[in-house]
Amino acid sequence: MRFPAFPTIVRTFFTLSSYSARVSAQAPHKALHPTARGTVYKSMPTIPFLSSFFSSSSSDKMSYPVQKSNDEWQAVLNKEQFRVLREKGTEAPFAGKYDKHLPEEGVYTCAGCEAPLYKANHKFKSGCGWPAYFDSIPGAVTRHTDSTFGMARTEIVCSNCGGHLGHVFKGEGYATPTDERHCVNSISLNFSKDDKAAEGAKSESKA
Ligand SMILES: [Zn+2]
Repeated sequence: MRFPAFPTIVRTFFTLSSYSARVSAQAPHKALHPTARGTVYKSMPTIPFLSSFFSSSSSDKMSYPVQKSNDEWQAVLNKEQFRVLREKGTEAPFAGKYDKHLPEEGVYTCAGCEAPLYKANHKFKSGCGWPAYFDSIPGAVTRHTDSTFGMARTEIVCSNCGGHLGHVFKGEGYATPTDERHCVNSISLNFSKDDKAAEGAKSESKA
């Protein structure tokens, strides 16, 4: 008899099957590590963060309906308006003429091109030192990621001329419908009591 005895076959089979059971039990466990590590690496912001540290706002590369050269802007804006609107400056806090301005009606327009940006009823008291709005006239304001100074902020510009308005902050807990704060430089704005530019057909039908 060259065949192994029956108990030997059983023992061999048992050993093989328990070995494969061990392997398959280990397999998902082993597979977890590379996946988990891959996820961690993917979510690490190191490389985008470092590259964005040195880049300026993407709004520089955008084109807007109103296009003027720096010389042309300097001819229509005063020095401080040019610094804020065209060079993305920031006015001193609590110094702007619209910081504590809370009219019942009217519209805030872009100081560069007069496009209507915010309505009086978008404005709220934030105490932050700059005019604050919880929303804008639809489409009037364009958002860009501003990565200057190593911070990821959302810059807001006039959609018509690209003039720098300020930044928008979210989730600060203000009791407003959007929980957003458009923090705008007063110098980037003009105010008109006449709402018609913003209201359009609606105010005409009211009259
Ligand atoms: Zn504008």
